[in-house]
Amino acid sequence: MATDAMAHSGADIVLEVNNIEVVYNKVVQALRGLSLVVPRGRIVALLGSNGAGKSTALKAISGLLKIDDAELEQGSILFAGEPVNQHAPQALVRAGMSHVMEGRRVFGDLTVQENLVAATYALSGRSGVKPDFDMVYTFFPRLYERRKGLAGYLSGGEQQMLAIGRALIAKPKLMLLDEPSLGLSPKLVEDIFSIIVRINSEAGTSMLLVEQNATVALAVAHQGYIMENGKIVIDGSAERLANDPDVREFYLGMEGDGEAKSFKELKHYKRRKRWLS
Ligand code: ATP
Repeated sequence: MATDAMAHSGADIVLEVNNIEVVYNKVVQALRGLSLVVPRGRIVALLGSNGAGKSTALKAISGLLKIDDAELEQGSILFAGEPVNQHAPQALVRAGMSHVMEGRRVFGDLTVQENLVAATYALSGRSGVKPDFDMVYTFFPRLYERRKGLAGYLSGGEQQMLAIGRALIAKPKLMLLDEPSLGLSPKLVEDIFSIIVRINSEAGTSMLLVEQNATVALAVAHQGYIMENGKIVIDGSAERLANDPDVREFYLGMEGDGEAKSFKELKHYKRRKRWLS
């Protein structure tokens, strides 16, 4: 699929997902021909409502489908030009891909510093890459202050910082972020997103950012995709999406009469309204 985002990106693509289909437990089809690209050095937002398939897409990319008894049944995923399908998740981490999973998964019984050390184990064997604690603490001074405290006692926002810090320690080429805003206050969301932008611009990390909070995600992303029922329904520059009246109506909760239940339905509904009038 030649997507809009592709057309804007040029040739330098860090991640390319082509027409993938994923099935859980051999019955539930979660992805139905999903395609997207992440150009190098960009933040790409993957948006959509509950159950659209966003987390499944990230798990397919980082090799974590097996944990949930899911399988990639069709399509291909290329990371830095190489197919990821045959690689174990640890090999992908060593190759420069880090996945920050939904729900701030940190080891509550370990200190902040120990959590970061634990994250470096996945790196062993990655040539030329040394864990960079200083870089993590530079982006997250709060984690430095709390480095000797147990991660279980951190606030929700600090745990999200630690989850991102654990991914960052591998100095990834690509970071997959699953709902970093989940459960955080607007102020903390703002703090976390401004750090995400800094990591992208200062460390050059490309990002695939999954969010239900479309407004915040489109404010920091360069490009965006909106998915519904396992596939992309619209894509383009973040600015274009943020200004698209239909996207604004359905995903950003602005304008419109609120009758449609999905983006696709919104389109049908509008067409019907035109025919009737
Ligand atoms: P959310 O924002 O709620 O996490 P999502 O867009 O990330 O939603 P997914 O979690 O990827 O959506 O789920 C996509 C579809 O796959 C849903 O229909 C969901 O019920 C199904 N699904 C997800 N995980 C499993 C699982 N472990 N076993 C079976 N079906 C699953």
